[in-house]
Amino acid sequence: MLMSYNELLNYNTSCFEKRFANSKDNYKNSELERQRAYQLRNKSLLNMEKLLVDFETRFQDNGGTVLWARDAEDAQEMIRDIVVKREIRAITRSNSIVLDEIGLNDLIKENNKLLFENNISRYVLKAIGQVPYHPMYPAINLSKEEINGVLNEHYKLKFGSTTKQMVNFIRHQITQEMAKAQVCITGANFLLADVGGVALSENEGNILKSCASAKIHIVVAGIEKVIPSMEDLSILLPLSSAHATGHHMTAINSITCGPSINGNGPEQMYVILLNNGRTDLLENEVIRKSLSCIHCGACVSVCPIYKNIGGYAYNSPYIGPIGSVMAPLMYGLDKYYQLAYLCTQCGRCTEVCPVKIPIVDLVIENRRIIAEERIGNAKFEALVRSMISHCKSRKKMDCPQWLKKLEVKQLVSKSNFTMREMPEMAPKSFNQMAKETEN
Ligand code: SF4
Repeated sequence: MLMSYNELLNYNTSCFEKRFANSKDNYKNSELERQRAYQLRNKSLLNMEKLLVDFETRFQDNGGTVLWARDAEDAQEMIRDIVVKREIRAITRSNSIVLDEIGLNDLIKENNKLLFENNISRYVLKAIGQVPYHPMYPAINLSKEEINGVLNEHYKLKFGSTTKQMVNFIRHQITQEMAKAQVCITGANFLLADVGGVALSENEGNILKSCASAKIHIVVAGIEKVIPSMEDLSILLPLSSAHATGHHMTAINSITCGPSINGNGPEQMYVILLNNGRTDLLENEVIRKSLSCIHCGACVSVCPIYKNIGGYAYNSPYIGPIGSVMAPLMYGLDKYYQLAYLCTQCGRCTEVCPVKIPIVDLVIENRRIIAEERIGNAKFEALVRSMISHCKSRKKMDCPQWLKKLEVKQLVSKSNFTMREMPEMAPKSFNQMAKETEN
């Protein structure tokens, strides 16, 4: 029997929780390791300016080029310069949130170039024009049968294919596309200041293959990705793997320090260091902690709100608890202030975060700023007031299910339901059920 949307999302995220719980056995003292990671990320943020200059110097010594992008438009302009001037036809990209942040796919489309996804989940999503639903598991919202349906409709892969057959099929397609691409664009897991290197982690091996076959490798990395040394990876990579997928270690970890010196790899390599509001976040002592994020996605997988509303409700590449904090700050509190009110302060995200980001405190800080600056519109305030008065009225709470649905539909603007179906109202109120039980 097919699962409902919520059952599927809950099932998939619960698989992560089990794997993550098992991965804790990797450490004698996982709390101590988290503390180390917290201090390391904190130190990196406080010394960011020096570390970035060190990275730039060493990377350029290795033959690479470093470009500094003030915002997403700047980064787009730089990519356009590299790709359009050289009359590149095809480009591959990796699964990276920062590439979504700068709107890479639209940029490539506008310039009439071919863009190939080299991540298996994103390959499926591209066929149906969807964006990732989760930072680590982009197609977590699709069941095996739905994915088979997509592959059948778009590529004529037979119905009833096994997971292995589907993966092998996509792998074959991606390999063929990678061979055609002249440019490979990736994010970066970390930037290493001591060697001028870019650390990349993946489980599929396609990033490494894409970079090896392309002539140009472009890395787009947020400035917060810089860490002091290669040695620090011994703390961050295992923690990131355990919290992202529950593995001891991500399957393939590579460090690339510049263009190829023996012809086995890209002839040119660029690193675009993206600011896009990050230095503003650094100024606020509380909010600054959000930049420690290593985008493992653990907080997303355990968040009860995400499990109910899904990834599209955030309308941002940054999803889940950390998305609720970062999206309003990066894209404007005036447009995204409502995300700050999603949180119930249950604290699961803060408990699991490998770099100990106190996400619940950051949410409160955002709410403080919103309240202080009186951000938000009168319509939203009216909606909340109206909801409160409904909840206070026993008659309204006990009215029939169809009437409740109608009333809520009138209260909530249609635009709130463009991303998903309005959930069903409970047939009976808690009060009604309690009375029945008593009787
Ligand atoms: S906030 Fe923490 S748990 Fe969430 S994605 Fe970032 S590092 Fe992972």
